[in-house]
Amino acid sequence: MRKIQMVDLQGQYQDIKEQVNTAIAQILETSAFINGPEVHAFQKELEDYLGVKHVIPCANGTDALQIAMMGLGLQPGDEVITADFTFAATVEVIALLQLTPVLVDVDPDTFNIDIDAVKKAITPRTKAIVPVHLFGQCADMDAIMAMANEHGLFVIEDNAQAIGAKYTSRKGEKTMAGTIGHVGATSFFPSKNLGAYGDGGAIFTNDDALAHTIRGMVNHGMYERYHHDVVGVNSRLDSIQAAVLRAKLPKLNDYCDARRAAARSYSKAFMGQPHIKTPKTVNGCEGICDTCDCHVFHQYTLRITNGKRDALVKHLQEKEIPCGVYYPIPLHKQKAYADDRYDERDFPITKQLVQEVISLPMHTELDEEQLAFITTTVIEFVNAQVQDVLV
Ligand SMILES: *Cc1c(COP(=O)(O)O)cnc(C)c1O
Repeated sequence: MRKIQMVDLQGQYQDIKEQVNTAIAQILETSAFINGPEVHAFQKELEDYLGVKHVIPCANGTDALQIAMMGLGLQPGDEVITADFTFAATVEVIALLQLTPVLVDVDPDTFNIDIDAVKKAITPRTKAIVPVHLFGQCADMDAIMAMANEHGLFVIEDNAQAIGAKYTSRKGEKTMAGTIGHVGATSFFPSKNLGAYGDGGAIFTNDDALAHTIRGMVNHGMYERYHHDVVGVNSRLDSIQAAVLRAKLPKLNDYCDARRAAARSYSKAFMGQPHIKTPKTVNGCEGICDTCDCHVFHQYTLRITNGKRDALVKHLQEKEIPCGVYYPIPLHKQKAYADDRYDERDFPITKQLVQEVISLPMHTELDEEQLAFITTTVIEFVNAQVQDVLV
């Protein structure tokens, strides 16, 4: 059996090697390292793929979130509601801009922001909601957009983990993740579903005026050379990363399919296991239906409900099966983001999830032998009696 990797990018590279190497060599020859033709071409191709009017490439996903909030004109003290169970980047930029993060609980089945919790958290000072499309599927965007419209709030989608996922509205319309809210932000960090060979990110919007504002903001607030109209940042995608992304974008749907196939294989194997909860999709199909396009499985995350999660992590390490705990600590308990405003009783689900979740290897190169070894090892260990474990 091949050694199991948590993330394996070698297969993808071998497949696009010639194209990438040629493109990079050409960039080196022309020296158009920043904002060169490759960046512009990638921007157009991504706009077409997503069906969105504007893509603004930038340096990374964290910047993308920050610049989206700057572009919307959010001001210090404005309240921004987001999930307690996510990667810290989301809340980090809220805090950096001196906005007030309002962390709320999540849904136990989809791991995404809980709609009732958002509703409860809205105050007259609330200005925006940041749904995070965690692990590869959209939050309940119909409900979020309805609430946002009712209260006059901006919606900023953190789409770092869900590029390529489709959202099906209650009316049956399909929209690409990240293009539903007022603005979306994504990351091209190498291990993301569409990963560069370094850092990269992008902002999406259908709003012409907002796109114009943001295009200047990513480049020192310049709309005309050396005229600085607003305080901006330096956040640009370099041409070499754009070349890599251009080679990968036409294959993104295949990458998503490969991830879904691995997820289906996992979920089928774990079906009926009393202590193993498989991830549910927003369509409620537990990720095993063949037609599901709502989930792109950035992570395949189980809940181990009999208290053996930590022991399982250790056991898998011993068996050389990599795994991850995303995320081990609720954000409202992190030193940087703890605040007297929070009431522990408001986070029952996040508190449970941080003790139960485990993410298994997930990438486009997993084969059946590896998947079978992983699932058998997990099932045997979780079901073993304490005595069995000790001997
Ligand atoms: C990766 C990630 C980010 C940040 O992206 P970077 O490119 O690493 O800055 C933000 N939010 C979420 C949910 C992420 O997974």
